[in-house]
Amino acid sequence: MKAKYDFLIVGAGLYGAVFAHELKKAGKTCLIIEKRSHIAGNIYTEEIEGIQVHKYGAHIFHTSNREVWEYVNRFAEFNGYVHSPIANYKGEIYNLPFNMNTFNRMWGVVTPDEAKKKIEEQISSDYSKCPENLEEQAINLVGRDIYEKLICGYTEKQWGRPCRKLPAFIIRRLPVRYTYDNNYFNDAYQGIPAGGYTAMVERMIDGIEVRPNTDYLAEKSRWDSIADRVVYTGPIDAYFGYKFGTLEYRSLRFETEVLDMQNFQGCAVVNYTDRETPYTRIIEHKHFEYGTQPKTVITREYSLEWKPGTEPYYPVNDEKNTALYVKYKALAEKQQGNVIFGGRLGEYRYYDMDKTVEAALKKVREVLENI
Ligand code: UDP
Repeated sequence: MKAKYDFLIVGAGLYGAVFAHELKKAGKTCLIIEKRSHIAGNIYTEEIEGIQVHKYGAHIFHTSNREVWEYVNRFAEFNGYVHSPIANYKGEIYNLPFNMNTFNRMWGVVTPDEAKKKIEEQISSDYSKCPENLEEQAINLVGRDIYEKLICGYTEKQWGRPCRKLPAFIIRRLPVRYTYDNNYFNDAYQGIPAGGYTAMVERMIDGIEVRPNTDYLAEKSRWDSIADRVVYTGPIDAYFGYKFGTLEYRSLRFETEVLDMQNFQGCAVVNYTDRETPYTRIIEHKHFEYGTQPKTVITREYSLEWKPGTEPYYPVNDEKNTALYVKYKALAEKQQGNVIFGGRLGEYRYYDMDKTVEAALKKVREVLENI
C-alpha cells in the first residue's frame, strides 16, 4: 500500500470498478477497499458444477445505450442470451413481460385488437387518470385479472408493502406489448458475460490494488487520510451515521441447491406470483448460458426487510424514503466534491447495471475535467 493515493474507492461493485478503471486510464492512482471477501458487489458470480451462479440474484445486462454496450464488451464477450422469464400462478404458466402470449393464456384472445378490447373492458370502471401508486398504474396498463394473478401477490412479496403504497414507476419497468414477443426487455442490446460477471469486473480493475474484508466506516478517518478524494458506493445513510434515521431497503435471502438432473424448470427464471409461495422466484443458472452440464444449480429467492447487518439490495423509493434521502443528499453535496456518492446504495436509486455504468462514466469524466 502507498502512503497516499489520488482516490480511495469504497466498494468493488460495478460503479466502483468502472470509476477505478477510468481513473487508472487517466493516470490517477487509486485503492479500492471492499467490505466483503470478494469483488463485483451484487453482480458477483461463482462457478459451481461448471455453471456460473449469480450469488446475489439474477443479473441480465441490457441497454439501449450503444456507448455503454461497447464499453462492457471491452471486458467480456456477451453471449446473446435473451431474457424470457415465466410466471407460475398456482400452476398456471404465463409468459412475461405482459404480451400477446400472456393475454392469450389469460383470456383466449388471439389478435391485438381483441386483447386491447379486453383490457379496456377490464379497466373501464377502474381507470385512474393520474395513477399515483403501483396498483393504479398496473390496472391502467393491463387490467384487473393480470394485476391480481401476476402482479399483486408477487409485488407485495417482493416489496413487503401493499401495492397502493408503492411508487408507480416500479411497474413501468416492465414492457406491455401487443405482439407475441417474450423478450423481457425493450433494449437494443442484452446478454450475459461469458465466464461470469466476476471475471468481467476483474478485467475492469486489472492492475488496481484491492483490499477485500475492509470496512471503511469502521476506520473512516484512517482511510480518508490516505487519499485526496473518496468515491463512496456504500449506503448513504450509513456514511452519515444514520443521523436523520435509516433509509429502508429490501434485502434478499437465497437458498441454493445442486440437483442431480440436467434440467429442472426449462428456463432461467420462474416467478411465483401467488401470495402463498414464500419465495418470489427460482433461478436455474445454467439457462443463462445454455449450459449442458449433467447437473443443475437452482436458487430460491426470498425477499425480506433489510435490517442492520444484512445486505441491502433494493432502495424503497417511496415518498417517506425519498424525503429522507433528500436530506442525506443535501449533506453529501456539502462535501465539496471531495467525496463522491455513487451506485445503487450511494445514490439510493433502483439502478440497473447499464445505468450504473452510465452514471459512473459521466461522473468520472466530470471529476477528471475539474481536477
Ligand atoms: N413484477 C410483477 N410480476 C412479475 C414480475 C415483476 O408484478 O412477474 C413487478 C414487481 O412489482 C417488480 C417490478 O415488476 O418489483 C419490476 O420487476 P423486475 O423484473 O424489473 O424486478 P427485478 O428483476 O429488478 O427484481
